[in-house]
Amino acid sequence: MRERLMMAEKIIELDGSQGEGGGQVLRTALTLSMITGQPVRLTDIRANRPKPGLMRQHLVAVQAAAQVCGADIGDTGLGARELLFRPGAIRAGNYSFAIGTAGSSTLVLQTLLPALLFADGPSTVTVSGGTHNPMAPPAEFLQRAYGRAMRDMGATIDITLRRRGFYPAGGGVVEATVQACAGLRPLALLEAGARRNVFAESLVAAVPPGVARRELDFVGAAMGWDASRLHLVQLPDDQGPGNALLLTLESEHVTEVFAAFGEKSLRAESLAKQVVQDARTYMMSGAAVSEHLADQLMVPMALAGGGKFTVDRVSQHAITNADVIARFLPVDIRFETGAGRASCTIATR
Ligand code: AMP
Repeated sequence: MRERLMMAEKIIELDGSQGEGGGQVLRTALTLSMITGQPVRLTDIRANRPKPGLMRQHLVAVQAAAQVCGADIGDTGLGARELLFRPGAIRAGNYSFAIGTAGSSTLVLQTLLPALLFADGPSTVTVSGGTHNPMAPPAEFLQRAYGRAMRDMGATIDITLRRRGFYPAGGGVVEATVQACAGLRPLALLEAGARRNVFAESLVAAVPPGVARRELDFVGAAMGWDASRLHLVQLPDDQGPGNALLLTLESEHVTEVFAAFGEKSLRAESLAKQVVQDARTYMMSGAAVSEHLADQLMVPMALAGGGKFTVDRVSQHAITNADVIARFLPVDIRFETGAGRASCTIATR
């Protein structure tokens, strides 16, 4: 794979303030640097975020990527705004990484999993930290939405949620096993297809169950779902405080998970309304994937040499991601916006 993808060995210079200017630029760069063997220099990392530079979650992603491929990252530490990443060969192994805060463990996994597909054997990766944080995929999204699409591209990745971790306490644990594969298959996700199963889960830990009941009541009424589709998941108090509301839509070709996370100042109904709106926008668009799944599919589709999906909205994240991917891989990524939905086509140059 590496030989196939390797371009002339020169350092790729990436401006971390481009486009979205968030952590996605860093994660995509790390993943593709590992896989293609091309070194990358990032400057102005996460310049557009309120606390720029490497936060714990990003630093752990850098350290984890470095460990997996034997890269030397010098004394890169918290808050760093620059990084030179020179990858070695990707090594299979049993890895364990602790974020130490509620930083997103799923985003650390997002960085590592595609790379470990191209390792010299099977791997397990355990990441501790947040599993249900705002602005990041909840672990169930990785298991159900990302996991299914990756399987359809020929990857064998199993994700187990050992313990939930909410912001700000953290303490969650997610474990992934990855089988090495010869390559990924192109995938076209143009329609979601017939809806097979839909359900909502409200998770509460050290939060009164009445909050979860109100969220589920709202979802039931708004979506027309009966009680058999509404699940209250009461977790041990020591996993909290935390509350997450997840809506899962399983369709013939794709599974989507929409999420929102409880906050002290946010009413249960307002939180539920937000998730319902996201799910409805997606359903009404007729697109196969949502904005967030789109972010996760672009790297594997580019690695597969091709892919296509329809999406409810093209975000700045997606456009930035496309620009970063095209710096590492010989692919063209085109977005076309139509009535109420858009499409993304990835093809080898
Ligand atoms: P960044 O803001 O650049 O660190 O990137 C955040 C990443 O988390 C992007 O890949 C988003 O698509 C993803 N993300 C944020 N919120 C959600 C959510 N509710 N469900 C799934 N993915 C999410």
